[in-house]
Amino acid sequence: MQIYNSAHHKKEEFIPQKEGVIKMYVCGPTVYDQIHIGNGRTFFSFDIIRRYLMWRGYDLTFVQNLTDVDDKIINRANENKQDPEELAKHFADSFNEVMKAFKVLPPDIQPRATLEINEMIQMISGLIEKGHAYESQGDVYFSVRSYPDYGHISHRNIDDLLVGARIEASDIKRDPLDFALWKKAKPGEPFWESPWGKGRPGWHSECSAMVHKYLGTPIDIHGGGSDLAFPHHENEAAQADACWEHGLAKYWMHSGMLQVNHEKMSKSLGNFYTLREILDTYSPDAVRLLMVQTHYRSTMDFSFDRLDGASSSLERLKTTMKNLSWHIDQLSDEKKDELSRESLDLQEASKRAREEFTEAMDDDFNSALATAGLFKLQSEINVYLDKIESSKADKSIALAAQDTLRELFGIFGIDINDDKVSYPQEIIELAKRFSDYEGSDTEEAARILLEVRQEARSQKEWSVADGIRDGLAELGLIVEDTDLGARVVKR
Ligand code: AMP
Ligand code: ZN
Repeated sequence: MQIYNSAHHKKEEFIPQKEGVIKMYVCGPTVYDQIHIGNGRTFFSFDIIRRYLMWRGYDLTFVQNLTDVDDKIINRANENKQDPEELAKHFADSFNEVMKAFKVLPPDIQPRATLEINEMIQMISGLIEKGHAYESQGDVYFSVRSYPDYGHISHRNIDDLLVGARIEASDIKRDPLDFALWKKAKPGEPFWESPWGKGRPGWHSECSAMVHKYLGTPIDIHGGGSDLAFPHHENEAAQADACWEHGLAKYWMHSGMLQVNHEKMSKSLGNFYTLREILDTYSPDAVRLLMVQTHYRSTMDFSFDRLDGASSSLERLKTTMKNLSWHIDQLSDEKKDELSRESLDLQEASKRAREEFTEAMDDDFNSALATAGLFKLQSEINVYLDKIESSKADKSIALAAQDTLRELFGIFGIDINDDKVSYPQEIIELAKRFSDYEGSDTEEAARILLEVRQEARSQKEWSVADGIRDGLAELGLIVEDTDLGARVVKR
């Protein structure tokens, strides 16, 4: 399996440190607002990567933090005249609810920065002892010049950075590039006691400390959006390496940004959408289908037209699944002595789809190519359904094709099963009128009505057949005769 390691600017063979076991960390959100579809894209990308690795048989532990103390949280709380802790808790809960609604697997461990202050203080103390950090007026800074590898994650050179940096007239920092590990509390801000007085951790401190505590460094995969590569990941890596003297992660993965109609998504441009509002109109499966159709490292252009397109594709997939189910229901379990051309072709198509899917995903999680292969299988199933005569079909092959499509879309967290048809309760009364049905299942009632109607038609008892048709029509249902048999559908 190949993974693009952004620390080395190239695809590399993926070899976990311990065979079959993966330690994975992805930076979580700063909980000061509802998360938007851009954040969503990053979290969906890593959810798919995680699901795929698990499907490939790895024993994977996934840790993701919640940044619940930060300037953004404090500023927003001040604007709202709210307690920062309360605000952070509200948006943390909301984040978890939205992720659940979108079927993102919950992290195995989800540490919150405010509950891990001791670990951060330990790491910062270690860095001071080793000469990589210094205290200054109640703040603590990481000394970038003390760590020769600074820049190796995001491929930046310290001297170039210095030219680009605004030279702050600061008598606090020794070097403009030094970054805060600990910040002295300003009046009215949340604070914790520390060897340097009252204060709070800098953002970068938390991830390194949590990775170390919960997974043990180095880990196998560290992920986040590409906007985090510098300075956040660079700083995470520098402080961890300087403190524990081994790298933070073996593979650094960065997912591409999401844009809206080719523009940056921002509140001021009015093209800012939260995941919550998207859920009012679209199914999580349609959103996920849209997302997997772009490779995780590419920039993704979001538009409602594209999302509508994904919704239609999903509907068509569900129709294929439904038609295939109808077909399968008509087949006997009996093995065929000789397989028909159509069954052989379908068998081959399922096998190929599985191979191509794995090949694409093994190549740095190319979900776009993998999805294209699944759509190809869908159209092969449609061709099969068009051509096949039930008497010549092999049930196990049809079932295998259905399982393949369902299972592989399932790895993307996309449910393509046709939702259960719900008929009105009155259909049970109708079934009782025309048969000796005694149950209470609306689907069963519909099936029995079809059987009675079929029997009546073959006996030329038109009044019974018409009575069933009219009774169904009163309930807003029609009988549709198809190549695959009759079915009751909503008008
Ligand atoms: P934040 O809460 O700002 O730290 O963001 C949480 C995650 O969302 C990070 O991994 C960011 O890289 C990611 N993210 C933020 N904006 C976008 C965007 N427009 N497209 C993709 N990912 C984003
Ligand atoms: Zn982080």
